[in-house]
Amino acid sequence: VLETRKLTRTFGERVPVHALKGVDLQVAAGEILAIIGPSGSGKSTLLNLIGALDTPTSGEVIIDGTPLAQVRNIDRFRGKTIGFVFQSHNLLPTLTAAENVEVPMYEQPMRGRARRARAVELLTLVGLGNRADHLPSQMSGGERQRVAIARALANEPAIVLADEPTGNLDTVNTAEIMALFSRLNQERGLTLVLVTHNTEVAAAAQRVITIRDGMIERDVTMQSEIERELLLFKSSVLGQAI
Ligand code: ATP
Ligand code: MG
Repeated sequence: VLETRKLTRTFGERVPVHALKGVDLQVAAGEILAIIGPSGSGKSTLLNLIGALDTPTSGEVIIDGTPLAQVRNIDRFRGKTIGFVFQSHNLLPTLTAAENVEVPMYEQPMRGRARRARAVELLTLVGLGNRADHLPSQMSGGERQRVAIARALANEPAIVLADEPTGNLDTVNTAEIMALFSRLNQERGLTLVLVTHNTEVAAAAQRVITIRDGMIERDVTMQSEIERELLLFKSSVLGQAI
């Protein structure tokens, strides 16, 4: 469903930072792909380009056969095909859970009542059916993150991109979010691309890509290889950080 070809992104002109240096990636429909790698290696940059939140310096992103550069109304296209889950600052604090989930639905013609019904349905799906009228400040970190996931699903996207979706959550909440993602993947065939520092999160993926210095260093799909890759990541990258 999605593909990048020789994707590069350079920031700045006088002192250029080569955040991505020609990334070729193919993601099949229904795949759960985890992207790991050291801080500053280009993970968020890659995700933002795939989600059309940023434009490449060169190369292209192709979604369902359509190069993003050829899409006329990119906001509309993104709203329909891609859901994005950010690490933080994701919910509007003055809106209730249901209202937050309704935000992306304004991209399509929908009556207020239908929007509300769909928002409650999605909140129920993430286990928050009884919290529709609560404000983000009245919910826990894990609950807020689940609201953010419900919002990402608002327009029934085929692809969900998540940048550190469990970044500030404890192990119990992290496991819950991953169980939810796995269920959505199995039941709805959702394609998931997630960036994570958490090796337990990555272990739930069917494929793990390691990015280093703006390039794909390794790309593994076998369970045994994934486990080895994550052990390596744990000892090298996380060991250094701590
Ligand atoms: P982290 O794990 O810390 O989130 P990352 O792998 O997501 O790191 P990116 O955010 O993709 O890293 O950044 C890759 C490189 O590009 C870094 O060197 C970063 O400083 C640089 N960079 C990212 N965004 C910008 C920007 N808007 N302007 C200048 N440089 C940027
Ligand atoms: Mg990042």
